Amino acid sequence: MGLMSEIQKAAEIIQEGGLVAFPTETVYGLGADALNPYAVARIFEVKNRPQFDPLIVHVADMRQAEILALKFPEKALRLIEKFWPGPLTVVLQKAAIVPDIVTSSLPTVAIRVPNHPMALELIRESGRPIAAPSANPFGGVSPTTAEHVRQSLGGKIDMILDGGPCLVGVESTVISFVGKEPVLLRPGGVSLEEIQAIIGKVEIHTSAVDKPLAPGQLDHHYAPRTPLILDDSLESLPEGKKIGLLAFQKPKTSYTFAAIEILSEKGDLKEAAANLFAALRRLDEKNLDLIVAHPVPHAGLGRAINDRLYKASRK
Ligand code: AMP
Ligand code: MG
Repeated sequence: MGLMSEIQKAAEIIQEGGLVAFPTETVYGLGADALNPYAVARIFEVKNRPQFDPLIVHVADMRQAEILALKFPEKALRLIEKFWPGPLTVVLQKAAIVPDIVTSSLPTVAIRVPNHPMALELIRESGRPIAAPSANPFGGVSPTTAEHVRQSLGGKIDMILDGGPCLVGVESTVISFVGKEPVLLRPGGVSLEEIQAIIGKVEIHTSAVDKPLAPGQLDHHYAPRTPLILDDSLESLPEGKKIGLLAFQKPKTSYTFAAIEILSEKGDLKEAAANLFAALRRLDEKNLDLIVAHPVPHAGLGRAINDRLYKASRK
């Protein structure tokens, strides 16, 4: 089947209330027609996702976004102008057309335009906004290839579109515009610095970014099956255990690890983000006793990476 007819078939599945996994620039999404509550209910069922965790609605352009939200504050528009299509999700007051199941009954809706030709084509071809969380069982490591999706959800969904590996590799930045000041709810593919350069001051939801090494309120885990700890010293590791290391660059340590994954030899946070979830999966497949993750520099995309590592360490 040609690429176009693959997408046409996927679009028909969406129109009929089915589930399609599709590539975006961040991670693979598990999509359903956002305006069909029965289809959206299946997302929660298949992922085993708790109903109180709302979904992001993916649209092809601003015109389609306008149908879903009551108003777009000026600062939201400035970010949209700069970062759509891209890994930026805005939370706005929802229009009545958005079913409660999408937003976990919140009066707000999260919206973004993904920067991936297959995702955009699927949304346009189906003519529907597509609600899509990451295409993995709830709490697990997000998928960055079609093969990752096949492994965990293969038998349970109607179709998987394969668009190759995701180029950004961490989820979108989520920012809310429903209060007085914009609030960063989740660090992601657009950095806090890039956002501040456009709209100035942004409040930071405490579990979102500021204290990635402190306990916080959590809704996602991004966790491998193997226990994972964050350790910035790499000293005094237990002897006689099979330990894998997830490091940013080549680590300075004399400890003999059973496996090592280096996120970016040259110390590039973008490359590290793109490699993060696949590296975690490879370590998880090695039957280790423990994965030790070395935090990355806490700036730019590093905030999103540290956030995922921190959440993965909290079981
Ligand atoms: P994911 O499962 O990776 O697609 O994550 C979706 C993220 O968007 C989660 O962190 C949600 O809590 C957040 N989100 C979605 N809808 C809303 C909303 N209406 N208000 C606040 N956060 C939201
Ligand atoms: Mg997810």
